[in-house]
Amino acid sequence: MKNNKGKVIPDAVFRDKRSGSEMIEDSINLTVGQLIEIYAYAEAIVETVREPLLILQDDLIVRSANKSFFTLFQMQKSEVYGKQIFNLNGGEWNIPELKQLLTDILPNNSHFNDYEVRHEYKKIGKKIMLLNARRIILEGNKTKLILLAIEDVTAKREYERLKDDYLSFASHELKTPITTVKAYAQILEKRLSLGADDKNKHFVSRIIRQADKMNSLVADFLDLGKIEDDGIPLNKTRFDLNLLIKNISEDFQYGTDKHTITRKGSINMHVLADKNRLGQVVINLLTNAIKYSPDGGTIEIRMDSVNHKAIVSIKDGGIGISKNKQALIFDRFYRIKEGKDPKQGYGLGLYISSKIVKRHGGEIGVKSERGKGATFWFTLPINP
Ligand code: ADP
Repeated sequence: MKNNKGKVIPDAVFRDKRSGSEMIEDSINLTVGQLIEIYAYAEAIVETVREPLLILQDDLIVRSANKSFFTLFQMQKSEVYGKQIFNLNGGEWNIPELKQLLTDILPNNSHFNDYEVRHEYKKIGKKIMLLNARRIILEGNKTKLILLAIEDVTAKREYERLKDDYLSFASHELKTPITTVKAYAQILEKRLSLGADDKNKHFVSRIIRQADKMNSLVADFLDLGKIEDDGIPLNKTRFDLNLLIKNISEDFQYGTDKHTITRKGSINMHVLADKNRLGQVVINLLTNAIKYSPDGGTIEIRMDSVNHKAIVSIKDGGIGISKNKQALIFDRFYRIKEGKDPKQGYGLGLYISSKIVKRHGGEIGVKSERGKGATFWFTLPINP
């Protein structure tokens, strides 16, 4: 159907029996109805969120707040609405850095996440809060608001502190007796070497090995605590990775008769990294290479440098890893339960190694087939 100006009118409109003004009125009602619905929807979200929320105008005056805000800060609407955020509760929020962040948001269209505020509030005492803020634009750019979400992380931080204290206490308490057991066993070993029978020597060497195992387990559990929090702290220095690998591999060769450890290639520059942590990675990979090639054989360490990267690989001829398990072995506590795998540990070594390598900006991986040995490799950026 066409109107008198030749324009096509959709059939649905033509069949509509309402007058033009009725149709306009309906559509206005519909829009207002929708707006009310959207407003109620937004308000329900703000009220339901457990985190305290503040909505600020562009002059940083509080336009509204949700129930959680009033509950956490023990304030009334009259103390909050219409007040500038920096004047709330006698200027408790008047923190220069926060002021800068908030005043930057509107002109720069920016936002901030996880800004930590430690403060002693008059009514609720010492608190640690994480603040997230974002700009909202309404009414076709006319109204500019800031949504400020506040998370009280005081209890979480306290729990983390207690966990750290507990871990360092536990590791200290465990390490002291292990060190003593090891020291006495070493004295015994020396005395036995003067003529005792082989069986006794064997028992003593087992005590020493078990003590070493306990020590590394305690260290792994401590590392796990650090990884779960902020990541392993690194103490970087510039050093010769070739030399570190040489020293470690010679120590390992000393401890095994069944395996021959060879080294090939070299890294052409000193690396800037945490020497102890990288040593830990090499030790973990060599321990596994020996542990998972119970029939002995050659373990080949290769060192290369390609495109400003050091590449280290450790190849064994042991039991290998099937393809579908290879992505999982770097997960926390993951161990393969296939056939009779020799003396597995707690599935932490590769997890910790991968975290250390990644913290250095490197990569770690494995190439293997079940029954055909495994080659573990890692890379490390070399900073000239
Ligand atoms: P674990 O303490 O159990 O050795 P890891 O995290 O070091 O823990 O290794 C995880 C799992 O990956 C091991 O339990 C083992 O099944 C497998 N794995 C690691 N290295 C090798 C290897 N060189 N050859 C075969 N399997 C390996």
